[in-house]
Amino acid sequence: MTISIKLYFSFCFTTILMSCQGQNIYTKNKTMSTTKNNNPIYSTTDTNKVVMKEEEWKEILTPEQYYIARQKGTERPGSSKFENFKEQGTYYCAACGNPLFVSDTKFESGCGWPSFFAPFQKSTLIYTPDFSHGMNRTEVQCARCKAHVGHVFEDGPKPTGLRYCINGAILNFEKKPEEKK
Ligand SMILES: [Zn+2]
Repeated sequence: MTISIKLYFSFCFTTILMSCQGQNIYTKNKTMSTTKNNNPIYSTTDTNKVVMKEEEWKEILTPEQYYIARQKGTERPGSSKFENFKEQGTYYCAACGNPLFVSDTKFESGCGWPSFFAPFQKSTLIYTPDFSHGMNRTEVQCARCKAHVGHVFEDGPKPTGLRYCINGAILNFEKKPEEKK
């Protein structure tokens, strides 16, 4: 066998090996969580309201999450791994675990942030008029912990006509379990 053929085969082998490893990592990583492990209030089932001091939130959240959730900040457009993410599953509030959106209502708005046309349930979010930055917008907050998550606009697709423009940094994603055959 000539050297070039040997090289060709070793290249193919490496490529196959790499793609297999990629898949393994992918299937293991069912939850895309950015929540720190020391979050005592994080629960995807507890519906009790969360009231905590700002210092306590600072301990629990990452600096970016704290800026968005507690200071009504906005992540850089196009920076979220969830913007063009198409997996089937549920999006939870990264601060408290409250289910906020499901993938069935996600759509590509092209606005630079993960977008949904409906929340998990109507009671999932709190809606507040927001006149900051010279705009007339409606702010949406997590109804359990009052984290600022984004805004809702009335230029979304059917059936609701709404566009929930959400900061991906304050979302945790959990993949839908595989259906049993
Ligand atoms: Zn929350």
